Amino acid sequence: MSNQFDIAVLGAGPGGYVAAIRAAQLGFKVVCIDNFKNIKGRASLGGTCLNVGCIPSKALLESSENYERVTHKFGAHGITVTDARIDLATMLGRKDKIVEQFTGGIAGLFRKNKVTSMHGTGRVLAAATAGCTVEVRAGDKLETLEAKHVIIATGSAPRALPFSPFDNDLILDNAGALALSSVPKRLGVIGAGVIGLEMGSVWRRLGSKVTILEALPAFLMAADEAVAKEALKIFTKDGLEIRTNVKVTGIEKVDGHVSVTLEDGANAQSIDFDRLIVAVGRMPNTEALAADTAGLKLDARGFIEVDAHCRTNLPNVYAIGDVVRGPMLAHKASEEGVAVAESIAGQASHVNLDHVPWVIYTSPEIAWVGRTEQSLREAGIKYRAGQFPFMANGRARALGESAGFVKILADAGNDRVLGVHIIGAFASELISEAVVAMEFDASAEDIARIVHAHPSLSEVMHEAALAVDKRTLHI
Ligand code: FAD
Ligand code: AMP
Repeated sequence: MSNQFDIAVLGAGPGGYVAAIRAAQLGFKVVCIDNFKNIKGRASLGGTCLNVGCIPSKALLESSENYERVTHKFGAHGITVTDARIDLATMLGRKDKIVEQFTGGIAGLFRKNKVTSMHGTGRVLAAATAGCTVEVRAGDKLETLEAKHVIIATGSAPRALPFSPFDNDLILDNAGALALSSVPKRLGVIGAGVIGLEMGSVWRRLGSKVTILEALPAFLMAADEAVAKEALKIFTKDGLEIRTNVKVTGIEKVDGHVSVTLEDGANAQSIDFDRLIVAVGRMPNTEALAADTAGLKLDARGFIEVDAHCRTNLPNVYAIGDVVRGPMLAHKASEEGVAVAESIAGQASHVNLDHVPWVIYTSPEIAWVGRTEQSLREAGIKYRAGQFPFMANGRARALGESAGFVKILADAGNDRVLGVHIIGAFASELISEAVVAMEFDASAEDIARIVHAHPSLSEVMHEAALAVDKRTLHI
């Protein structure tokens, strides 16, 4: 193998592998270096997202939701199922198979696009306008590559609490939370963010008594406050215990279980759990990059500092995805990957971080794009809000999924859509219409004038747009 490349990509997550494929399509000679190993100790492409993130979590969410449907929802359809049981090994096996198919698929895509794939840990030794030197370490083997450009896409890792490292036996990170071999009776989750809520939902549906402990004073503060309020009501009714304003001060392993000490207002108390998931956020993977020796600049929070085009302070070195500012989401990483590959090829490209959709795959799902009502209020921006419930939608009623609503926020002056917030069935799919609308600078009136299929959940979006102008047809 020649060690001369046009582009070296560090990391094969959704940022890195997509950047590598797009760069190869554009005619560049590309190498993609990745160091991920799965629990069998095998190199596996796809990063956090495919191996221990987006894909396996959605597989388990679907399986556990099916169990909940059988045990709690089929009765309303006149379907009685007796003796519904969980075979956890089969459930986890299904998830692992999906992961293997997709990670293997990336290897196939690399072959198809002639991307050279290397297993190892990469770091930038030197960067200049003439080109960069990258070192790749795999065990005792050390190799040096030359590349005109480097794209750093090394992603992120789960953050442990300072007093409690992960052991993935009792104290679990995301990988451990996706691979529990039995359903714990009492499951603690620290952090009510996206990962904590999704993992908490999976194990609650499978039978755990789940308690989620969140340090912030209110639930889901990143979401629109009306959505957060509705979500808290639904999740609590479904059996998740969610405690906000709780400061965890200690975690101790005692006789095969975990004792968590916390401060709840002025009161200190401790709670025992059989297993504990710690989901308090993720840290950028920069330690192996030798940022200090190559002079790669990090920001105050330890992310690689980049400009709007993902350029770092080093010549010809770019960084994308979880390792840089912006939402830690797979689709954001991938779009940055495409944009960087295209800008290296001299094309104009840019990712609009204001229009990145967020999704939480709970039941019901939560999705949003753009501004929240509280952020518009705080910024003093005049807006009109239109809201419509799934309860009044025929398809939602037929599905038996009538919880939640769509809320559209539009500029009070020119009616431009500023934000769309959904809590309800298939919110992850419905949000795309809102993203398209905002990307094309649509007004609420534009959405109101689009013909939406009947009966479909998308009619709730239509009615919410009509509601902005106070002219809903079905309530
Ligand atoms: P990563 O996917 O983290 O990939 C980085 C890769 O680089 C890894 O393989 C890593 O091992 C490797 N690497 C690190 N350092 C080096 C080095 N020096 N040399 C070589 N290789 C290196 N996002 C969504 O959009 N939707 C979801 O539903 C969703 N669900 C999630 C569920 C869970 C449980 C978790 C943990 C995350 C979820 N995310 C989701 C977030 C998503 O996984 C990340 O935003 C995404 O993976 C970031 O992509 P990336 O390419 O930047 O980094
Ligand atoms: P996310 O960044 O979406 O993964 O969410 C992480 C969540 O964990 C956020 O809601 C944080 O407020 C919460 N969090 C962070 N540190 C702690 C802590 N020490 N105790 C409880 N919750 C925490």
